[in-house]
Amino acid sequence: MKYIFVTGGVISGLGKGTTAASLGRLLVSRGYRVTAIKIDPYLNTDAGTMNPFEHGEVFVLDDGGEVDLDLGTYERFLDTNLSSDHNITTGKIYFRVISKERKGAYLGKTVQIIPHVTNEIKREIARVAEASGADIAIVELGGTVGDIESMPFLEAVRQMRMDLSPAEQGHACIFIHTTLIPEIGAVGEQKTKPTQHSVRELRAIGIDPDIIVARAEREIEADIKEKISLFCNVPVEAVISAPNIESIYGIPMMLDEQRVADYVLNKFSLEPGKQDLREWKDFYQRLMNPKYSVDVAIVGKYTELADAYISHIEAFRHSTAETGCKVNAKFIEAEEIEKHGAESVLAGTDAILVPGGFGHRGIEGKITAAGFARESNKPYLGVCLGFQCAVIDYARNVLSLNNANSSEFDPNTPYPVIDLLPEQRTVSDKGGTMRLGAHKIIVEKGSIAHSLYGTEEIFERHRHRYEVNPEMKSDFVSRGMIFTGKSEDGRRMEIAELKGSDYFVGSQFHPELKSRPTRPSPLHLGLVRAAMKQKYRIG
Ligand code: GLN
Repeated sequence: MKYIFVTGGVISGLGKGTTAASLGRLLVSRGYRVTAIKIDPYLNTDAGTMNPFEHGEVFVLDDGGEVDLDLGTYERFLDTNLSSDHNITTGKIYFRVISKERKGAYLGKTVQIIPHVTNEIKREIARVAEASGADIAIVELGGTVGDIESMPFLEAVRQMRMDLSPAEQGHACIFIHTTLIPEIGAVGEQKTKPTQHSVRELRAIGIDPDIIVARAEREIEADIKEKISLFCNVPVEAVISAPNIESIYGIPMMLDEQRVADYVLNKFSLEPGKQDLREWKDFYQRLMNPKYSVDVAIVGKYTELADAYISHIEAFRHSTAETGCKVNAKFIEAEEIEKHGAESVLAGTDAILVPGGFGHRGIEGKITAAGFARESNKPYLGVCLGFQCAVIDYARNVLSLNNANSSEFDPNTPYPVIDLLPEQRTVSDKGGTMRLGAHKIIVEKGSIAHSLYGTEEIFERHRHRYEVNPEMKSDFVSRGMIFTGKSEDGRRMEIAELKGSDYFVGSQFHPELKSRPTRPSPLHLGLVRAAMKQKYRIG
């Protein structure tokens, strides 16, 4: 097993994950099996209990793990399915150490950060990497070097290099440090000092980086690369220029031009392999050269942070490559619709997406948005909460069930058309207790969903506590809202469609989570195609 440890310096939010995932893609294109592990040095056990406003979307894996959104990036770039073990948090590690202590596993010993916590970290990284069956594991350390939180993890990976790389055996571990090169003044002089400082900090911990990825507004100039090389003690070919570019999907090519994969494979004494990046390049060409464009309103409540809906945005990008139609995502605060009405906010857009969400704020705006789409035949996709909102609108305004609601928002509603899952009634803990992960769904032949998925059996990822009240199902069906996707036992409504609409689809699951560059989420693709068809009268 070979390890690539990726650290970050100077500031957070440099796109470490995307850079690491892009390198991963290059290594895959050379014929290697690559996996990824993300380390998040916070005390939460997982991302499930964290506010998307602060941390962006909570990504959900097949096994139901609620994880950091970087795992989504890795799944998309490596085209692999990860499990929740691939997101290691301080919370998980400490929980394990403390449980062991209570069982008496360290009997007689003083339990300490070094070696007990660091040993647990090392064991866990190695276990997850080896269980994946990969040749190379990319291990990204969240946070910035120098943070108190990341210290035990940095110490653990420092030890791993020592444990695994006796000098005579070549490298088993390499370190990539991602830093920022700011530009100062009118001429935009590129400054290396923050990078020098952060590398010094890393070396003080005992880690010498092998490669420096220098993030900047523009291409890093040759003399600046040389300066970084000199001050940070890496060869100049190991200083990688990573300027801002138009699309993250272009990063693999940017790294390839600088021969990063060759450098890494050479360090590992692995064969360079014959590169095949054709599929990715072809996808990128199609993504970057759309002929059409549509505006899609994303009606949510975390709209100030684009990362809160990142998988939807990516699913639309994948759809663009497939259709040649660019998607301009317009983030709309649901409360704006409550204030100004749907017509004035949404009439100018070509399609509407209401994504998942929790809690009461903005809910009436989302229900109104679904009703507006239904009445105006505007293409609509409702995901999870957005699906539930479409059902509530239908109940209130077509079935005339006054004050119909989800019992999440109105526990005393006379018509709980959306109700708590029966198995949730006894659940009191919040962490990891929803209906989570991939479940089988049976798709009805002849439906829109079936035409998009092209199969009767699908597996899609879930994250919810509420569902369509099965007792009220027939009222909907008799009036034109049909359920074309159900759980295997037929009890749970998974997909809703509206008879007579061009495209009005809701899903209890999250199709955006499994969207991949060359295999877009079928329901997002359907939305884009329907919007294109209405706008350009084609398709
Ligand atoms: N709040 C809703 C539920 O728990 C929807 C969840 C979601 O959109 N992810 O069922």
